[in-house]
Amino acid sequence: MRALVAGNWKMNGLTAALDEIAALKAGLAARPAACDVLVCPPATLIAQAAKVADRVFALGGQDCRAEASGAFTGDISAEMLKDAGASAVIVGHSERRQYHGERDEDVAAKAKAAWRAGLKAIVCVGETLEQREAGTANHICGGQIAGSLPEGAHAGNTAIAYEPVWAIGTGRTATLDDIAAMHAHVRDCLVKGSGEKGRAIPILYGGSVKPDNAAAILAVAEVGGALVGGASLKAADFLAIIRAAG
Ligand code: PEP
Repeated sequence: MRALVAGNWKMNGLTAALDEIAALKAGLAARPAACDVLVCPPATLIAQAAKVADRVFALGGQDCRAEASGAFTGDISAEMLKDAGASAVIVGHSERRQYHGERDEDVAAKAKAAWRAGLKAIVCVGETLEQREAGTANHICGGQIAGSLPEGAHAGNTAIAYEPVWAIGTGRTATLDDIAAMHAHVRDCLVKGSGEKGRAIPILYGGSVKPDNAAAILAVAEVGGALVGGASLKAADFLAIIRAAG
């Protein structure tokens, strides 16, 4: 299966950042990627970015509300993201879990909402440094998968992103051995939870993926792609990571 390299711009990007979308498009139009490419800009830019990208790569949202519409001031539904031109949405990012108190059941409802709207759900899991040091990383990630992934997940509608919280935006990456061990554990959990379908669900790694470490990370067994934060903001860096995928 083709790897998926996804960029998470977080709360970064004004209209001028569409220049980066245009540069990424130009780079990929000149030499098509060997992997699937997704950029998740702020929701305010999705529609414009989708026009600029012109299907050369895909656009996604960073979060959605579980309901399709209603009196939820400030929130955005999966249907709205789809309408703006998204084909995927990140759910359960650790920053949402940390700053918005999202629990596994909220994340599962959002994943279901994504499917309802025809979006791929990128479901994030990952342990904190404290949890890793306490030796509970496997238990934490396994619990997050069991609680955040609704029944019905398959490779066509879902990707998991394993993102150790302590490696996000810190410049620290997990060792290749740690990544291999956790991805193997996540695979076991997926097979336990989703049977044979769980074998094909891609598992992305996220946490300070950069042009200089991407090739090594993407070569690790069971790493089906990357979720990239900071290094996705500049087209040149993001392109270099995309090229590292093959
Ligand atoms: C992320 O936000 O999902 C992420 C992995 O960020 P960074 O690459 O900046 O660590």
